[in-house]
Amino acid sequence: MPDSEISALAVYLVPFAAIMAFYFWSRSRKESHSAAQLKEATEAGLTEPSSLHPEINPVKCLGAGSCAIACPEGAIGLIKGKAHLINPTVCIGHGACMAACPHGAITLVFGTEKRGMDIPCVNPEFETNVPGIFIAGELGGMGLIRKAATQGSQAMDAIGKLKGSANPLDVVIVGAGPAGLSAGLGALEKNCATSFWNRKARSAAPFTSIRATKLP
Ligand SMILES: Cc1cc2nc3c(=O)[nH]c(=O)nc-3n(C[C@H](O)[C@H](O)[C@H](O)COP(=O)(O)OP(=O)(O)OC[C@H]3O[C@@H](n4cnc5c(N)ncnc54)[C@H](O)[C@@H]3O)c2cc1C
Ligand code: SF4
Repeated sequence: MPDSEISALAVYLVPFAAIMAFYFWSRSRKESHSAAQLKEATEAGLTEPSSLHPEINPVKCLGAGSCAIACPEGAIGLIKGKAHLINPTVCIGHGACMAACPHGAITLVFGTEKRGMDIPCVNPEFETNVPGIFIAGELGGMGLIRKAATQGSQAMDAIGKLKGSANPLDVVIVGAGPAGLSAGLGALEKNCATSFWNRKARSAAPFTSIRATKLP
């Protein structure tokens, strides 16, 4: 091959090789970061997504990585060319990853292989088999905002009919979502002495960062 052709080829090949090298280097860095995230979450026992989450079909996944780019929570990443839920407890189930996947490799599911889909047993007034403990909203199954709020209010109506005790508090509400807030409004209406607890949003230690507010 004449020298002039070799130099013309090099003009194209050298930048191409540089771009490819940069691409593989950056991808390998991201994959190492994802693997480290997954390891950290596994060691901390944070392996179970709380609700709706992506299930990735490894056969269909071709490692495009669009799910990881689409996920605003940093919950999904690539490891060895396949998508993984690397930070399961921060996934909030909005399905941006599913919409972004060009190969239809992601579906949104509720239960997990380990946890199944446990739904608490409650009576029509939302009282569990532990007397005095009520469950309303998402925790009782698949919820919607309106449904959760209605259930919270109905549970509080049932609580309002219970006989008082020597406890200085009438009600302790755990969780300030639609169900909890609606129950709280019901408690205010009934003039119950109430303690309101909510996990600090996006805490890595869900059971330690709690703030409490006592309603007047
Ligand atoms: C991405 C997404 C989009 C949705 N879009 C819609 C929609 O368009 N329309 C609709 O009707 N529904 C929608 N939903 C469903 C809706 O958000 C839920 O059904 C609803 O929020 C359930 O209300 P909840 O009060 O039962 O639970 P949550 O809203 O989940 O509230 C529970 C609260 O409890 C707190 N908590 C959890 N554990 C603890 C603990 N150990 N101690 C103290 N506090 C704790 C949490 O921080 C949270 O604030 C959507 C859900 C998601 C994830
Ligand atoms: S469902 Fe939402 S939060 Fe969960 S991995 Fe997909 S994009 Fe991220």
